[in-house]
Amino acid sequence: MPIARVAINVPVDTLFDYSAERISSSDIGLRVSVPFGKKRVAGIIIDVTSDTLIDSKKIKSIEQIFNETPRLPKELLDLFTFCSQYYHHSIGMVIMNALPATLRTSKPIKLPKDKISWNTMQLTLTETGKQTDLTSIPVRQRVARNLLNRFQQSGTISGRELKDSSSKIKQLIQQWLMCGWITKNQRPVTTNISNNPPPPLTSEQNTAVNAITASIGQFNVWLLHGITGSGKTEVYLRLIATILEQGKQILILVPEINLTPQLEAVFQNRFPNVNLISLHSGLNDTERLQGWLQAHSGQAKIVLGTRLSVFTPFHNLGLMIVDEEHDHSFKQQDGLRYSARDLAIFRSKQIDIPIILGSATPSLESYYHALNGRYRMVKLTSRAIQNAALPLIQTIDIRTHKASNGLSQPLIHALHENLAEKRQSIVFINRRGYAPVLLCKACNWNAVCTRCSSRLVVHLRDKNLRCHHCGNQQQLPLACPECGNQDLAPFGQGTQRVTETLANYLPTARILRIDRDSTRQKDAWRTILQKIHDQEVDILVGTQILAKGHDFPNVSLIGILNPDNSLFSTDFRASERLFAQLMQISGRAGRANNKGKVLIQTEFPDHPLYRALQKQDFDTLAQGLLAERKVAGFPPYLYQAVLRAEAHKIELVLNFLQSAVNLAKRNSFIELFDPVPAQMLRLKGMERGHLLVQSTSRTQLQAFLSEWQNQLHTLSSHKIRWALDVDPAEL
Ligand code: ADP
Ligand code: ZN
Ligand code: ZN
Repeated sequence: MPIARVAINVPVDTLFDYSAERISSSDIGLRVSVPFGKKRVAGIIIDVTSDTLIDSKKIKSIEQIFNETPRLPKELLDLFTFCSQYYHHSIGMVIMNALPATLRTSKPIKLPKDKISWNTMQLTLTETGKQTDLTSIPVRQRVARNLLNRFQQSGTISGRELKDSSSKIKQLIQQWLMCGWITKNQRPVTTNISNNPPPPLTSEQNTAVNAITASIGQFNVWLLHGITGSGKTEVYLRLIATILEQGKQILILVPEINLTPQLEAVFQNRFPNVNLISLHSGLNDTERLQGWLQAHSGQAKIVLGTRLSVFTPFHNLGLMIVDEEHDHSFKQQDGLRYSARDLAIFRSKQIDIPIILGSATPSLESYYHALNGRYRMVKLTSRAIQNAALPLIQTIDIRTHKASNGLSQPLIHALHENLAEKRQSIVFINRRGYAPVLLCKACNWNAVCTRCSSRLVVHLRDKNLRCHHCGNQQQLPLACPECGNQDLAPFGQGTQRVTETLANYLPTARILRIDRDSTRQKDAWRTILQKIHDQEVDILVGTQILAKGHDFPNVSLIGILNPDNSLFSTDFRASERLFAQLMQISGRAGRANNKGKVLIQTEFPDHPLYRALQKQDFDTLAQGLLAERKVAGFPPYLYQAVLRAEAHKIELVLNFLQSAVNLAKRNSFIELFDPVPAQMLRLKGMERGHLLVQSTSRTQLQAFLSEWQNQLHTLSSHKIRWALDVDPAEL
């Protein structure tokens, strides 16, 4: 009897064998229900073979094969396999993480109803339908068999012909539409038929579009490096039009659920007749399943989504776009710790289609690949709208203009003036990159690790300095080793009272605070954006969330508080992020016809980062940062992975990590550091620690991790939760 090898949602990286009658390799990718222990669970058939190591008397059989669930295409199964191997996460968990919740159950799905208009519709057999084996439908389902047969003979049948053919016909058609065997006649894909014809391209846009179009049928990673307001979206739109004309689908990954409505409107407006869906965490299970099925069957032409949608099945994908590719939300920070951007690149290579990474401030990794020719770079260096000048960026030296409760007098003054002119302002509070480091304000000396040039973190409780990179510890010095200054203090300032202080200084201003909490609810953003557009708000106060791609046409002043935290962060990526953030937030100013102004409160007005920002000169800064990383030995010049562990007591964690170190088979390619407690030691009642591994060879690192992971499973760890994090976004 044939054996199905099935992936199941368990943390063991193996497939499980089940017997099944009437099963063949054409069933690979189907969902099944199988007995597992005392339960029935959902699984996906990954392979069909004839031999198994399990005793033929003991082998269990598959309970049910869900034929109505669309089969996962091979291309997607390959992506899952790669993802499982690269991130060292079990294949079953990778798959179940990626599937809509409804498909993770061991029950048949209730397929959402598709509207049927019998008199006008034409039904056409899809590729999936053509490949469906007639004998896979049981003989007693006569109507279904006959219908499939008819479709396979004639390809297309009109609704009128089918309407009264059987009492079961409606249910069948709905089922087949949803699982992608047939499609309803699409309205013809008409691009450019829009109330708003596209603007003529700027010459830079034109060059970019032409370059990418010239090699559109093949794999290339394009880095579209364009300053904010340079019209990257228009470049996407033109390329999307070309792909749509070829009858293919497009996947656009965006960092934030909040950005989808805005982009959705732009795309829908340009392509009013094209079926566009957005996939994000705000959808309920049915909506997500519906979108997923439509992408699978090819009905949805444009899919817009957050990181999880990199796992969407497609019928005929022609282009992928990762907008704001540098954004860290593309990296998942728990469970399956994958990078959606990197998986998207893998996927486009696998199916030989182009992928565009768009950003005003590319990640240093991507930028590095563009410099060394692995990626192809196209640049947009000026704003697309005529007269939309770049904002004027100035620093306020808060060593001379003391800030009270975070706000300096020159900034308050500027806010006053802007309010008087009835223009909107943003006050941006930087909270990122804040870990207490030791800094001498007399000579700018800061405490760095002697072993790895990473900044040391102040642990006041233990009265020491610790390197979160390698675990090295030092005593807290009493005075600056460079200049003898005794006034050394952990660096950074609180931001709690900014809103209140503003209200005191500007009693007539309507101030709106925006943070994660105020935007959590569904539609909260829509309401907020509406308020801003209707000019019901004078000053917006917020954190990182404000930096992301929103268009605020009437904002002409931006004040930035506390950016210096990130200049002296222990995280080697903090400068890169700060620059990205400041560029983005500056891009909010003066988008329409009013020139914007950005005021940065800093103690280090001459820092190269602010200099680069004033000139909007990403290249110089990026090349400087890359040179630093090369010397210090940080990515992209080498590859990292982190073993993360947590338990109720940090001692347990550190013991576990130490045993992990002892177990490891070292070789000259692998650098293994000491265990370190996490900067934020306790999280949700657990104490956490980690251990860094790095190598100049990705292949060597991967080989090491595979073997190490197997050994780690042999450690007694029932009180410990641990996981590997490959290409960690932070330590
Ligand atoms: P980016 O995504 O690069 O920050 P956008 O795509 O948001 O920039 O474009 C900024 C503004 O420029 C938008 O209002 C857009 O409609 C406009 N725009 C883009 N391309 C053109 C063009 N070729 N001519 C006129 N306006 C354009
Ligand atoms: Zn000093
Ligand atoms: Zn160190």
